[in-house]
Amino acid sequence: MTTAERLYRNAAGLSEVGELLQTGDAVLAGEIPMAALTEADRLRLLAYPGSLARRIRRGSQSASLRVVYVVPDLATDEATHAPGRPFNLTPSGKTYGRQPDPEACDESRARHWEALFDAHTQELKDSARASDIEIVRTSELADKSGFLSVLRLALRSPAQIADAIRESGVTDEVDDEPLTFAGAACRECGSINGQTDYDPDWDRAQFNCGACGYTQEADIREQSMWMQEDVLRAAVIAALNPAVAIRRPGAKWDARENFVDSILMLAGGDGASLPTRLAPPSLDSEQGGTPLKDLIRLADDWDEDYAELP
Ligand SMILES: [Zn+2]
Repeated sequence: MTTAERLYRNAAGLSEVGELLQTGDAVLAGEIPMAALTEADRLRLLAYPGSLARRIRRGSQSASLRVVYVVPDLATDEATHAPGRPFNLTPSGKTYGRQPDPEACDESRARHWEALFDAHTQELKDSARASDIEIVRTSELADKSGFLSVLRLALRSPAQIADAIRESGVTDEVDDEPLTFAGAACRECGSINGQTDYDPDWDRAQFNCGACGYTQEADIREQSMWMQEDVLRAAVIAALNPAVAIRRPGAKWDARENFVDSILMLAGGDGASLPTRLAPPSLDSEQGGTPLKDLIRLADDWDEDYAELP
């Protein structure tokens, strides 16, 4: 698909993007939450792609849309930061891919929520039969050149990323240190707690684990990594090159997606390709259990920035 517009919103945006999509285009539906889905999550992650899949199938019975979900197993919510400085991270704890499953039934927290999300994709298949649904773990993208270009930027030039945070309007509250947006994870214990020293000439990183004392040194493609969530989203987009990326609604996320685009341009230079964005309305999430077909109807009809469940 081709379009000059960068951001479409709500029902009118859904309709316009539906017109532009072609069979085989990929839609990045979003990152699978590491928590139970809210109705706002279901509207964004399931109803919006479901509506697009129905629209493309209306044009041609044989057409299909690739709907891609990402398991953010290389991100973490255990890195620490000073109060009011969410981007001045100090690596600690483990990535979602190495954190234990809270219910001890799967091998990690990431696998647990991935397995539960799979049931939701079945609901999507039933409601919008044209969808070709893929669930991709970020750890599976780590050998893609686009992904690596973002990872290298994060390891080499954290100050450039801090500038991009300020210029995107995300926040001015970024200190010059600590400034860490990516690093290695320990091969022995899985901890990201420690110093990662990257050598761009050899594309290798050395990591001294602060949790168990293990030291490793290898090509970055041969080590598990962690990445800050916006940097990881940029790396995912660079690896998958989707035609459309569905994003969260609201002014805060306007700035965060501008930041993601800045990272893509810093990493990819003139060759960077930025996906069209599609944002659903904000939805009060207190009620639950709305059938997906009703959420798809809401997506198709609701053209204001704040939606309410019927
Ligand atoms: Zn360790």
